[in-house]
Parts: sequence; structure tokens; C-alpha cells
Amino acid sequence: MSSSTSLANGRSYLAIPGPSVIPDAVLQAMHRPAPNIYEGGLVAMTETLFPDLKRVARTRHHVAIYVGNGHAAWEAALANTVAPGAKVLALATGRFAYGWANMAEGVGAVPQILDFGRRNAVDLNRFAEALQADTRHGIKAVLVAHVDTSTSVLNDIAALRGVLDDVRHPALLMVDCIASLGCDRFEMDAWGVDVVVTGSQKGLMVPPGISFVFFNDKADMVRQTLPRVSRYWDWAPRIRPEAYYNYFSGTAPTHHLYGLRAALDMIHDEGIEAIWARHDRLARAIWAAVNVWGQDGPLQLNVMNPDIRSRAVTCLRIGAPHGANLRRYTASQLGLTLGLGIGMESGDDPNCDGYFRFGHMGHVSGQMILGLLGGVQAGLIALDIPHGKGAVEAAALVITGG
Ligand SMILES: *Cc1c(COP(=O)(O)O)cnc(C)c1O
Repeated sequence: MSSSTSLANGRSYLAIPGPSVIPDAVLQAMHRPAPNIYEGGLVAMTETLFPDLKRVARTRHHVAIYVGNGHAAWEAALANTVAPGAKVLALATGRFAYGWANMAEGVGAVPQILDFGRRNAVDLNRFAEALQADTRHGIKAVLVAHVDTSTSVLNDIAALRGVLDDVRHPALLMVDCIASLGCDRFEMDAWGVDVVVTGSQKGLMVPPGISFVFFNDKADMVRQTLPRVSRYWDWAPRIRPEAYYNYFSGTAPTHHLYGLRAALDMIHDEGIEAIWARHDRLARAIWAAVNVWGQDGPLQLNVMNPDIRSRAVTCLRIGAPHGANLRRYTASQLGLTLGLGIGMESGDDPNCDGYFRFGHMGHVSGQMILGLLGGVQAGLIALDIPHGKGAVEAAALVITGG
């Protein structure tokens, strides 16, 4: 096949697991002159964001907004809940729990990591054993990613709460929903989650730059017992500000807030249940296609068990150097940018060239997912990578409800 004629012009699809596709309505809402930050429309509009964010996380508790990315929300959650020297237990189903545990170390906590590998969810028995071994309740918080974006493993958060309750361990349950919020079903209050962190640039469809910490009264009580909380990360003034300026500990992220307003309008117009159903259908279409490709070739889903697969991101295994080659092909020839493999390093694949990922979070439709799968189909043909036939058709059957 000739690669001299690139077909990459025209509208592209950045199909990486964040930043995600930004809706035109969000872009247009941000395209405006600098607003007055003392009074008027911006101040009134900001007040509307808090209840609408809480509806997305399914909580009636609190949410603080930070100027920063997901890492900022990680640090903010820890700064309000963990005193120097306290133990935290990180449950790793990919590399993101290591990232959060590393932040915990940075604020003076002592992380203990339980690693469940790269293709499995948290094992509840091992989790229970670790809690039971902590007879003096030195562990103050459990850190877990709802969806680990490197592996695309989805964890059963309600089950983790069940384990904490069964063994009567008082640690806070703190969940990273940066990849999953607004994509995979998540119920903060019903599932007994104490603290949730998320960012703007994935399911919430806003450019990177603001992030969110949701917390309940139990977590807020813990905050009140800490000897000190760094002023910038302190969530208390951010939920009960004396002045508008306190919401953000400084200048408001003005344009991001307008973008967020537009995104929340889209989310609540569609309805969160409908959004979960859309992500579920699109994810199933992807799985169906990959299963067919894998019937006669090296491509497979990283997560074998469908019960623990994310609906927001999919990690694929194809063997080095096919993963890197496929990404290069779809980006340069088709205008389709696939996600890098991360956190899957091994001796024979130090750069994760045998992996790639699909981001299918937020503003994604049936035609985009069929285009994504058609693009991979073209790449497999162009690069002569063996694969089963009929994958896009299998996806179309799922899309049409078959
Ligand atoms: C994207 C992501 C992060 C990191 O967010 P940044 O904005 O890059 O700091 C953390 N955890 C998960 C699960 C993510 O998907």
C-alpha cells in the first residue's frame, strides 16, 4: 500500500485518554474577553457550578475546585486528610496508584502499596487481610483509582467500601475518578466514598487546568483534626468563602469556568444515566471489534474479564513494535491519534511499544468510534499485522443494538 498520500487532513480525532475531545460549545463558551472577577455574571455563574458538579459525582456533600491538573487534586485530597507520618494504603491496578502514593510521600505520609498486577482488579481478600493486619488503625486513608488509565482496569468501589465496613476499619476511602467520572457509572454517596478526585480534561470535556475534590463530612472532620493544612490546598475556605477570591485561593480560572458551565449543561441535558449508557455501548463495540481481530493475530484487550473493564479507556496489547507502528500510521496517514502504552514496561518492551490505548471518554459518538475502529483496521492492513476479519462489522452490530 502506498503511504505517499496522507489522508490526515480534515477533522482529526485525538483518541487518547485525556485530554479528551472538547465540544464546540465548550470552546465557544471560553472564547470571550476577560470578565470582571469582582462582581457580575462570572460570580453568579460560579455559584451554579457546585450543585451541578455534585450531581455528576452523585453526592450531596461538598466539592472544592482547584486551579491545577489531576496531580493537583491528588495533592489537595491528601493535604486535607493525611498528617505527616500517617500511613496510607494504595491499591495498585496499574501505575496511577503509584503516582498518588508518590504524592502522599511528598506530603509526609508513609504509603504502603498492594499491587494487583496490570490485568486484574483489586483482590478483596488481600485488601481485607491488609486492613486486618493494621490492628492499631495506623492506615488513615485507602487510595484507589476507579479506573486505572494505564491498564484500563475498573475497580468495584462499592465492594471496597464493603470490605472496610466488614473489618470495621475507619480509614477514609479516597477514589481517583479522573478517568472515569462522566463515563463509567460512579455513585459517591451510595457507594460510601469519602473523598473523590477528578480533573476537567477527561469525561468533563473541558481543557486541562482545573480539578475537583469532592468530600463528605467524615473527611471534613478528619481535616479539622489535622495540626495544619497548607493554605493553598485547604478545602474549607473553598466551600465557604468569605469572598469570591477564596473559592480559588486567588484569581478565578475564568475561562475554564465558562467552559465547565457549558460542559455541565451538555451533561445534564443528556442525563448522566444516558451518558453512562452511551459509554457502555461504545465500549462494547470496541471490545467486540478487538475480540474479532484477536481471533487471528496478536491484538488483544489488556483486561480479559469484561466485568472489570473501563468504559472510558481501553488498553490494547499487540506486541512490540506493532503498537508504536500502528499509532504512527493512524496519526500520520489518517488524522487519528491513539494513546501511548504507559506503565506496561517489561524487559523486552522497555518503551511499551507493544501497547496502545483508546480514549473514548466524554464527547464521543458512534460515528467517531466506528471511525476509530476503521482507522485501526486500515493500520492493521497497511502494516501487514495479522488479524481476524469482520471486526468493524462486529462493532457495527453492537452499535445498532444487535
Ligand atoms: C489522567 C489521570 C491522572 C493524572 O491527571 P493529570 O491531569 O495528568 O495530573 C491521574 N489519575 C488518573 C486515573 C488519570 O486518568
